[in-house]
Amino acid sequence: MARQPSKAKTPAPEPVIAPEPVGPAEAEAGGILTIDLGAIAANYRALSSRVMPSECAAVVKADAYGCGIEPVTRTLVREGCRTFFVAHLSEARQVRTIAPEAVIYVLNGYATGSEAGFVEAFARPVINSALELAEWDHVVRSGGWSAGFALHVDTGMNRLGLGIEEAAGMAGRAAVENHGITLLMSHFACAEVPEHPLNDRQIRSFRELRTLYRGVPASLANSAGIFLDSSAHCDVVRPGMALYGLNPTPGFPNPMRRAVEIKARIIQVRQVPIGTTVGYQAAWHARRDSRIGIVAAGYADGVLRASQQTDSGTGRHVEAAGKRCRILGRISMDLMAIDLTDLPDNAVRRGDFVTLVGGDLDLDAVAAEAGTIGYELLTNLGRRFRRVYTI
Ligand SMILES: *Cc1c(COP(=O)(O)O)cnc(C)c1O
Repeated sequence: MARQPSKAKTPAPEPVIAPEPVGPAEAEAGGILTIDLGAIAANYRALSSRVMPSECAAVVKADAYGCGIEPVTRTLVREGCRTFFVAHLSEARQVRTIAPEAVIYVLNGYATGSEAGFVEAFARPVINSALELAEWDHVVRSGGWSAGFALHVDTGMNRLGLGIEEAAGMAGRAAVENHGITLLMSHFACAEVPEHPLNDRQIRSFRELRTLYRGVPASLANSAGIFLDSSAHCDVVRPGMALYGLNPTPGFPNPMRRAVEIKARIIQVRQVPIGTTVGYQAAWHARRDSRIGIVAAGYADGVLRASQQTDSGTGRHVEAAGKRCRILGRISMDLMAIDLTDLPDNAVRRGDFVTLVGGDLDLDAVAAEAGTIGYELLTNLGRRFRRVYTI
């Protein structure tokens, strides 16, 4: 059942209709990216009930990890999500148009001179250093305006955030009226490796710090952090990847529902005699008479070019006619070659689609074959493709 933000009278929810497809018509499309908003909603509900009574926020930066910030935000608002995290102000504006009442945090913080944007989007910066805090305080004092801010403390990531000592030193501020700190935040470095000793150290440091900031809501866990124990949940959790169906528990079965499927079109099938090479740098050569499919997807579509190259292929696969087929040679900007030799004649023809992600080819596994992580693949895939939303 959808949870609604508590209001005196909840208006009848709008009927749920799938957004219109975007991008080229199917007949023109080199590929089709299908995003299952129903799976994203189900993932949100699953994470919410797992962290109860903590609040489940949502991270929708980078166009909701490539899934579409607007349809994803609309879906999550409908599920009762009240707090959104983005990386940039421009993303906060996009969320604001969809979610007029939501709390929006900008993870990359306040950039000098960007205050008008924060006012316009009614967004809260995540303050990442003492200098940034001083500047923000000045903005608030001189404008008489503030929606509050999150104070980010570094407990071991060494990327952004105030040092623990620094944050402890200014904890007195939390006792002052109108201190403006609406969230005390930190971020895990290794939550996807549950046995990593840094997790416990971060949880303990953050717990100690929280006692100094009594009354201020706290947030530590990303997706993988939610699957550590509940001591990581605090008041608000901040999942991103798990919402979009990536596996927050690597090495164990994926508890989330898959939300993304990607298909691309074969635009030519050709015979390649033994000894012939295929593609740039003649990087692959046929050790038998081969049938090759040329697929309309390349590195400009997010099929990463860099990967281990062997003479038997790239070690990467697509699925054609229900069978795994190797990717051959270099990935071009707009094209790649796959080996159809082991399929029956005419099992795959010009115009057919092959699966790049979906079914047995799950995103995390495809990313691993390409030498990267699901996040990188997901945020880059299929920008030129037709995009279809299901609910
Ligand atoms: C991106 C991000 C998240 C979400 O991380 P996932 O691993 O995708 O769940 C949470 N917190 C911060 C600070 C982030 O930058």
